[in-house]
Formats: sequence, structure tokens, C-alpha cells
Amino acid sequence: MDCIFCSIVKGEIPSDKVYEDEFVYAFKDVNPEAPVHILVIPKKHIKSLNQINKDNVKIIEKIYLAIGEIVKKEGINETGYRVVANTLGDGGQSVDHLHFHVLGGRKLTWPPG
Ligand code: AMP
Repeated sequence: MDCIFCSIVKGEIPSDKVYEDEFVYAFKDVNPEAPVHILVIPKKHIKSLNQINKDNVKIIEKIYLAIGEIVKKEGINETGYRVVANTLGDGGQSVDHLHFHVLGGRKLTWPPG
């Protein structure tokens, strides 16, 4: 399977890593939309939120625990941030490996376009 984020997890494609544990990997988005823009992904390939089920939902807990650590490390836990999982076509998902954008470091607008 050809997946760019799986290749990043394996170290085959370089990334600016900000967090890693047994299940979760996080790295800076190559095209940042905010001063802090980090992608948090499961190491195991999961295509999108649609593939989350009762057997693998624990990964969501692990991802959100990692996000809690990342936002503290990045110094945006007090100022605020946004977590977004774009999903499929209308959601604007361009990489078919589940990922959570963590955006912060500036006032974000709402609603998204
Ligand atoms: P999405 O459009 O929600 O699927 O988000 C995919 C994100 O991955 C985009 O924000 C891209 O800028 C980012 N991206 C794609 N390739 C890389 C890469 N090699 N390293 C870091 N970020 C990437």
C-alpha cells in the first residue's frame, strides 16, 4: 500500500517530528496554516474516521492524550487551539491516512470555508 503518512512513520520520508509513542506519531504540517500546525496520526494505517469502530476506538483516546501533551509543549494550551479531522471529499481530506490537524498560535476564524 502506498501511503505517504505510513512512509513518514517508517522514516522513509523525512518529517519534523514533535511527538511519538508506541501508537501515535505527530509532525509539523509541511504547509502550515497557522503558527502552530501539527498533524497527529495513528502509526497503524486507518483510512479515515469512517474506519473507527469498537475494536480500534482506543486509538482516538491515545491521539487525544498525545494532543494534550503536544499543545502544552507548543505553548498553546492556554491561548487555545483547534483540532480538525477533515474526512473524505466534502471534508477536504487529501491524505487517506487518518490525521488530526492541531492548529494554534493565532486567532482562528469560524466557520471554515
Ligand atoms: P488533509 O487535507 O486534511 O488531508 O491534510 C493533509 C495535510 O498533510 C495537509 O495539510 C498537507 O499540507 C499535509 N502534508 C502532506 N504531505 C506532507 C508531508 N510530507 N509532511 C508534512 N505534511 C504533509
